[in-house]
Amino acid sequence: MSSYDSILKAKPGDRLFLLGNEAIARGVIEAGVDVATTYPGTPSSEVGDVLFEIAGKAGLKFEFSVNEKVAVESAFAASISGLRSFVFMKHVGMNVAADAIMSIAYTGTGAPMVIMTADDPSMFSSQNEQDNRIYAQLAHLPLIEPSNPQEAKDFLKIAFMISEREGLPVMFRTTTRTSHMRSSVVMGEIQERHRENIPAPPGKYVALPSNSYRYKEALISRMEKISGENYQDLLVTRIGNPESMHGIIASGEAFNIMMDSMKKLGLDIEVLKLGIINPFPEKMVAEFMQKHPTVIVAEEVDPVIETACRSLAQKKGLSVNITGKLDGVFPMSHELSPNSVDKILREILALGRKEQTGTSQLSMDVPARPPVLCPGCPHRGTYFAVKRAVKMLRISDPVYSSDIGCYSLGDYDPFDEATVMLSMGSSVGVASGLTAATDRRAIAFIGDSTFFHGGIPGLINAVHNKSRLLLVIMDNDITAMTGRQPNPGTPLFLAGPSTREVSIEDVVRSAGVDFLKVVDPYDLKETLTAVMDALRHDGVSVIIAKRECALIRDNRNRKLGVEVRFMVNPDKCTGCMNCVTNFACPAMSVSGNKVVIDPNICDGCSVCTQPYVCPFHAIELEGDAGAA
Ligand code: SF4
Ligand code: SF4
Repeated sequence: MSSYDSILKAKPGDRLFLLGNEAIARGVIEAGVDVATTYPGTPSSEVGDVLFEIAGKAGLKFEFSVNEKVAVESAFAASISGLRSFVFMKHVGMNVAADAIMSIAYTGTGAPMVIMTADDPSMFSSQNEQDNRIYAQLAHLPLIEPSNPQEAKDFLKIAFMISEREGLPVMFRTTTRTSHMRSSVVMGEIQERHRENIPAPPGKYVALPSNSYRYKEALISRMEKISGENYQDLLVTRIGNPESMHGIIASGEAFNIMMDSMKKLGLDIEVLKLGIINPFPEKMVAEFMQKHPTVIVAEEVDPVIETACRSLAQKKGLSVNITGKLDGVFPMSHELSPNSVDKILREILALGRKEQTGTSQLSMDVPARPPVLCPGCPHRGTYFAVKRAVKMLRISDPVYSSDIGCYSLGDYDPFDEATVMLSMGSSVGVASGLTAATDRRAIAFIGDSTFFHGGIPGLINAVHNKSRLLLVIMDNDITAMTGRQPNPGTPLFLAGPSTREVSIEDVVRSAGVDFLKVVDPYDLKETLTAVMDALRHDGVSVIIAKRECALIRDNRNRKLGVEVRFMVNPDKCTGCMNCVTNFACPAMSVSGNKVVIDPNICDGCSVCTQPYVCPFHAIELEGDAGAA
């Protein structure tokens, strides 16, 4: 029995203590979804982790797609074949998928289709904090936003209902907090599946200009119709004292923080909670603004609701004082914190200062703990070898183009191997551009999943334009950073029997690369030699550093009861510090003038035993110390 089986088996009325993302997975089951697709990305990943485990038992088809655009195309294909589809991604994935989504908004859907975006205010694991509510406005699509796990499940079903009735894909937005908060969730009925394949009507889904010209008008009409429907009654709630002078309009996590602050400050203010952002629930918001002379708009990232409120007030000639981000009261960046909202409310309501009662403040300085590559991570050997090769070849001004994945941690000490990093798959295109723009030696790093996702066009472009660059593909068999989901290069024993492994080597060769070496990054000599050869090559050279993610091995060893640990023999350690300075495994630390290895952190990879790391052979298998 899998750890997620309870999500599938729970009966209507049962309560489960679920993450927002787990509740969404249950919502997918309850909504009778036939096909679900994704490219994994935090903060949406857990939805996929659950569906990957239970999809077969639930009778739905689940796919980890090669990227978000393909995930949307695959879900759309299901929709126009009469199958309910759900596609989900992190917020920046929308940028990749947008090309398809913009057209789907015009053609409309067949069976209902919901597109989830998990936004990441404050960028806990992302390169930006774009607010994807704006995508809904851009595409003219409905957008629903829950604020807790129960709503996440229940609103998802409403999203499918709207999509079914209106023939449009519906966007569903969470943020990190909603996706990752945990609370008690009441289960609902599971809708039966129809699984009735309906052939797509000829021509209907063809986004040719002549069709799209007509479809645009139809799209606007559909959105106007949705504005007039009573969906708002299901998704918009009024809470608190209707006679209060102030009113608060909020959505998502901002609503939760507002409610906490009001409770803490003993306030009884009416709150209008919006669960639908597009089309904007004008009627209910206008009524609310008529009732309250001052309206505070609380939302995270961009002033989407506030802008709509100000525009509505002007359109209706309402005399209301609106306060939010546009007048500088709330910050334009990052998620809201309980302390900042307390402070803002005190100022707006002239409550005066009080002792801090919210999040406790530490009175001591906590040492910075920058993120590090895991102990045993194969990327450490790769970065170590590349840095050493650059030094040995006396390349004075290398330029490192990095990419999105665990290996972006190569930016940190002691490797410093990221001069530039933009977006999924960008490392190769940027490196190619750098070789055209400068005489600097360009070295690009990319992971296996990211290579499949968006790196292949950049490689073809580099070959075609005769760039002189080294691309290091760090192939650890898995999409590691988001929780070890499979990708097209993942072996079948991890990806499942319904998939076929795609060889990165074959893809690279077929792109026309004439220098390719596959190395084991645990073998520092082999990797160093290959990197030096590649850097001498005049053209595009590719090294595939292939070694499974250390966490896969750790899991396997745990199950087998295998324990391998290394230690520093204090009699041999000279205190030269080469290991901690240049290799920096987190299991190592300095004790006095020697190095020690923490056996609770060491994963037994043995790479540090090689003379490149410890020239004095002081690192030994635990139990062997003093043997030689
Ligand atoms: S064997 Fe060495 S490099 Fe590997 S995890 Fe242990 S201390 Fe780190
Ligand atoms: S490299 Fe070897 S000798 Fe030098 S500090 Fe590390 S363990 Fe000691």
